[in-house]
Amino acid sequence: MAKRIQFARTGGPEVLELVDVTPAEPAPGEVRVRNQAVGLNFIDIYFRTGLYPAPSLPSGLGTEGAGVVEAVGEGVTHLKAGDRVAYAQGPLGAYAEQHVLPAGKVVVLPEGIDVETAAASMLKGLTVQYLLRQTRELKGGETILWHAAAGGVGSIACQWAKALGVKLIGTVSSPEKAALAEKNGAWATIDYTKEDVVERVRELTNGAMCDVVYDSVGKDTWETSLDCLKPRSLMVSFGNASGAVEGVNIGILNQKGSLFVTRPSLNGYADTRERLEWMAGELFEMLQSGKVTVDIAQRYPLAEAGKAQEALQGRQTTGSTILLP
Ligand code: NDP
Repeated sequence: MAKRIQFARTGGPEVLELVDVTPAEPAPGEVRVRNQAVGLNFIDIYFRTGLYPAPSLPSGLGTEGAGVVEAVGEGVTHLKAGDRVAYAQGPLGAYAEQHVLPAGKVVVLPEGIDVETAAASMLKGLTVQYLLRQTRELKGGETILWHAAAGGVGSIACQWAKALGVKLIGTVSSPEKAALAEKNGAWATIDYTKEDVVERVRELTNGAMCDVVYDSVGKDTWETSLDCLKPRSLMVSFGNASGAVEGVNIGILNQKGSLFVTRPSLNGYADTRERLEWMAGELFEMLQSGKVTVDIAQRYPLAEAGKAQEALQGRQTTGSTILLP
């Protein structure tokens, strides 16, 4: 038997339960991974609360993990039992000792990247890769606004932006989070609990405003974010930490300066094996070169997944959080 976290109804952290299951055998094209570390992500909370519907209930939870391949299904050629691997996509169910998923979503870990670092950075780091390098390929000297700059995705973004020569202005909710984002390479920070974000962006950029705004907070920050942009520039809305952006009148893009908007997801960018390998290759290079280091600021036993989610949702975490099976 193997342990996994599942939920039979949507709701608060109390709906998560630790159960024993019989490990499934991988079907053709699948692999079974023995997780050694599991990544905690805000998207897990969207599934638990029902903001994103799980395909069926009861359901497993989580899509990010790292460990060792235990069994491979028919037709799998790029993986074998014993390989050290990581993944950030596929069916819900990574919050578990063992997880079966399509082999195409699994990458082999290169030397020098340990499983905890991988579990703490696959989903978040691949997200930063496509946001900074693909939604628009940023150039050195450009200025961007990044909400939640001391969080999991944000901490990687601060370092990656710095490596690209991009000036990242990060929003945060406390002086401690501001210090952390600056240590990670943020060019400037704004404590939105004390300062007016639009006015501070105006001051910091001498009135020029930003080339791109990356907004994962959603409902609470949508309009502020649009006000921080240069005319004809790009708003990237990629998360809903405060709730989903709803009821938008498209005319607002005209009123705020002929803006562009995109609402991307990792699955939309890492949608083929070739693209996943290219994106993971860039992430691993950033990690191996030391240009990006991953701060695993919280570790919880798998059984305490609910407690870990409560901390993430309650803005009590910084950097990455992992669950240990
Ligand atoms: P974080 O570690 O960044 O945690 C969320 C942070 O958001 C909090 O620490 C807090 O920082 C800030 N925040 C602002 N308002 C709220 C609120 N009302 N409730 C809770 N937090 C709030 O999480 P992750 O790194 O896991 O994810 C960051 C975001 O990126 C999430 O929105 C997630 O959905 C999104 N994402 C999107 C992906 C995509 O492909 N579209 C992929 C991966 C992540 P502070 O206290 O400084 O305000």
